[in-house]
Amino acid sequence: MAMKLILLGTAGGPAPKRSRSAPANAVLAGDALYIVDCGNGVARQAALAGLDLRSLRGVFITHHHSDHNVDTGTLLQLAWTAGLDRSVAIAGPPPLGAMMRAFREFAEVDIRTRIADEGRPDFDRMLDVREIAQGGTIYRDDGVSVRAAVVTHPPLVPSFALRFDTPDRSIVFSGDTAPCDALVDLARGADVLVHEVMHAEAIGEILQRLSNAGRLRDHLMASHTRLDEVGAVAARAGVRTLVLNHFVPSEGIADEVWRAGAARDFPGEIIVGSDLMVL
Ligand SMILES: [Zn+2]
Ligand SMILES: [Zn+2]
Repeated sequence: MAMKLILLGTAGGPAPKRSRSAPANAVLAGDALYIVDCGNGVARQAALAGLDLRSLRGVFITHHHSDHNVDTGTLLQLAWTAGLDRSVAIAGPPPLGAMMRAFREFAEVDIRTRIADEGRPDFDRMLDVREIAQGGTIYRDDGVSVRAAVVTHPPLVPSFALRFDTPDRSIVFSGDTAPCDALVDLARGADVLVHEVMHAEAIGEILQRLSNAGRLRDHLMASHTRLDEVGAVAARAGVRTLVLNHFVPSEGIADEVWRAGAARDFPGEIIVGSDLMVL
């Protein structure tokens, strides 16, 4: 059965939004479930998508901005309460191990209580934490292989893009990145490229209202991909389908504007992502 992609959250940035949930994606290969990024609400979005958290086999964190990682521990703890009872690979940049240990301490009362009171299985035996320091193949099982590339998202180093391959489909997630050769190389010839996108002019208007406008603008411009750049990235990589997500700003811009901006330099299929879209 072909690998399936479900966009769980298509917003960009950590502040909660009304119409888009925080960054998170699901990949389904057979009955195995993989999650890419764990923005706030990922477990709830998975439930809304009808996904069975007991089939979770891997959790991949592209980088340690809170819009991408804040619910990593929460997802595992809630999946465990939903009946997950198997080893799960949890992969991401350092210091993922220390972060998961800190989360485990936070969750100790609930976990200890549920094991003693409800007869729940061991929680810790589920956690197979893998710190990823560089690109290359970072995960492989009988269904999928996952490759990472270090992308340009200063000041967080390393930040990763990820590529899932099965014999019949390939799906690449840009993570957060400025345009860079490493992403183009990773995505070369892929069926689907899920790419972040930023509308620079609209951001300018929003920034005018913020006290940290200058610093935030510098970060956004150095670390993200503008709408007038994203089509060229997809074209250079030669992907079949470009899926826009991680929209900055996340609200107030029509789908047609996003689509037209990306289409300027990319002749392939363009999909303007929305939460719970299945592809
Ligand atoms: Zn982000
Ligand atoms: Zn980021």
